[in-house]
Amino acid sequence: MEKLVILGSGIAGLTAAIYAARAELTPLIISGMEEGGQLTQTTEVENFPGFPNGIMGPVLMQNCKKQAERFGTRFVYGVVEKIERIKDGFKLKVGDKEIKTKSVIIATGASARWLGLPSEQKYKGRGVSSCATCDGAFYKNKEVLIIGGGDAAMEEAHFMTKFTDKVTIVHRGSEFRASKIMQERVLENKKIKILWNKTITEFLGDGKKLNAVKLQDTKTNKINEMKCDGVFLAIGHIPNTSFLKGFVDLDEKEYLKADRFMHTSVEGVFAAGDVQDYRYRQAISAAGSGCMAAIEVEKYLREKK
Ligand code: NDP
Repeated sequence: MEKLVILGSGIAGLTAAIYAARAELTPLIISGMEEGGQLTQTTEVENFPGFPNGIMGPVLMQNCKKQAERFGTRFVYGVVEKIERIKDGFKLKVGDKEIKTKSVIIATGASARWLGLPSEQKYKGRGVSSCATCDGAFYKNKEVLIIGGGDAAMEEAHFMTKFTDKVTIVHRGSEFRASKIMQERVLENKKIKILWNKTITEFLGDGKKLNAVKLQDTKTNKINEMKCDGVFLAIGHIPNTSFLKGFVDLDEKEYLKADRFMHTSVEGVFAAGDVQDYRYRQAISAAGSGCMAAIEVEKYLREKK
């Protein structure tokens, strides 16, 4: 039986592994479909402390993996389909394998919601992004669109005005669902324009870089083109928790419920990273919660013994 299995190989899971491995728990990571997590999808990370010149997201993740391996972390490529409680621990189903463990850290992350257009795939990372905090600084004085009408869209639009005064929020409805205070901040900001009742039907460019979008009016169905250099999608995130339903408590948005010590509703099961955090979703906060979860596991196993 394993002492600790960590689900997810993003920065939360790998940080948990570094701490757990150094505490001689010889953790096993089940990497998930996207090895290295969301940071492997970004370009330069400029806000991770300790890298004054920035670091490429994929390089940061490779370094974290090497660091976890250095102290004895083992990796299995795969996805956990089912988790159930057994005597003294848990049983995980990974493909045709079964893994038994005394404790679990769930760090399966959340995935940004995308529009699902073929042209979106083409321009991802070339003008289309799902994270203004990560990529906003690359759009100084550029024309940018923020898609969505929730708090994230308001926050991202406001954030982008640090870099450019050509910010437009494009929303499919005629009113925002964002909190009043966030809406007011946007409506009062002269650098932000709003386009109501519009959705993107196509991303346009020269194949290498985005330079315009096709917008459809949701009331009249009329389509027009709009020039822009960047599009930030802020249409929500989906936590990767579907396999956990019925096993552990989730909140109303299906995020994993955890207390401030990273304990979930099931004893011996801990949480880390975006799977339990819809508010911050930053690399550094995910790493921090991974560290906390690993320290809690060490304490839990020590007390159990
Ligand atoms: P939300 O689910 O609140 O909002 C998503 C927005 O995207 C909605 O306006 C929705 O439109 C729109 N949308 C969804 N799908 C599509 C689509 N296919 N095409 C076009 N538009 C689409 O997500 P957020 O990420 O904004 O917020 C998530 C949670 O995080 C919230 O609880 C929020 O309060 C919180 N948060 C808090 C912050 C803060 O307090 N500082 C900052 C950021 C987030 P429609 O309205 O028509 O459904």
